[in-house]
Amino acid sequence: MARVKKWKRPWRQWLKLADLPFTPVDYAERLLAWYGQAGRDLPWRNTRDPYRIWLSEVMLQQTTVTAVIGYYQRFLQQLPTVGLLAAASLEDVIDLWAGLGYYSRARNLHAAAKMVVEQFKGRFPEEVESLQKLPGIGRSTAGAISALAFDLRAPILDGNVRRVLCRLFALQEPPRSASAEKQLWQWSEKLTPTERVHDYTQAIMDLGAMVCVPRKPLCSECPLAEFCQAHKFGLELELPLKQVAKQIPTRYEVALLIDHQDQYLVRRRVADGFLGGLWEFPTISLTEGEDPEKKLPLLLSDFGLKGDAEKIGSIQHIYSHFRLKSIVYCKKMEHFPNVSAGDNCWFSLDKLKNIALHGAHKKVLDKLLNNGV
Ligand code: SF4
Repeated sequence: MARVKKWKRPWRQWLKLADLPFTPVDYAERLLAWYGQAGRDLPWRNTRDPYRIWLSEVMLQQTTVTAVIGYYQRFLQQLPTVGLLAAASLEDVIDLWAGLGYYSRARNLHAAAKMVVEQFKGRFPEEVESLQKLPGIGRSTAGAISALAFDLRAPILDGNVRRVLCRLFALQEPPRSASAEKQLWQWSEKLTPTERVHDYTQAIMDLGAMVCVPRKPLCSECPLAEFCQAHKFGLELELPLKQVAKQIPTRYEVALLIDHQDQYLVRRRVADGFLGGLWEFPTISLTEGEDPEKKLPLLLSDFGLKGDAEKIGSIQHIYSHFRLKSIVYCKKMEHFPNVSAGDNCWFSLDKLKNIALHGAHKKVLDKLLNNGV
């Protein structure tokens, strides 16, 4: 855990709102006044349609606003209603998501749209508790939909809000610890006003995205500077405290690029498994320390191939519960290999850049492109 230096906290317990030099009303007034002058104009801001708000909230998880805008507009052109999303195939939804990454979001979006149609007759529920029953909608996303679409008093705690509150209250625990999580939700709930919840929710999101930014917060421009405990004690750059990285196992594989006249063989993973519906190059798993050259002939034989393949490097990718190390080989074919159609497809490099390869194999593709094979 990172340590807070040169500063001893003047309290032993969590700060209470009553300990701070402001009331929730002062706080909300300052934030809303600032938002009126500086708030962002974004494509999903001028709507109260819960479908559009939900889509933007899901796309914005782990992705920047700039990256999301084009995807958001394209997605809505193709699937403008929750009914059309529910009726689309998972493969079509994944293809629309291609390039945004974190594809579980697309799978959950599709599953949740089906639930909205089947269980809620196509109308989004308004309350946080009901929204949380939909796949992929956690408490903060549910709060955002409830507040932004229905103006209900619902707190949120996304990454931006978490950072603002950690600094405002000078929280001295890693913010994802169970006790900190509980405390942050309590603060968020107490600070959420009873009126103008829609505007307040956008205001606190914008403050975290534009002013109370991760590396160099712009405290001189912050409407909350006078109230902020991190600013008062010069701790803006130290908070939030860093989370201790969790230990995860490593898995190994050989990935094979089969190249026939600049067309490469890929296949889609089964829809209901891990990374379901995403594309990948053929692979075979390895145990730790196993020689990939010994496993390669087995993988080649799956496609009726023999002989050598060129090793072009290795990549590493971290998923939430394991790290994947992939040793990458390329096999150039003079003649079209004897591969059954099945789920296999041949794509050009241009096409490969635009399909939904899973994260590790996106790096495999980058390796291929950087090697100029
Ligand atoms: S004063 Fe600085 S650290 Fe505190 S909330 Fe504002 S930008 Fe963040």
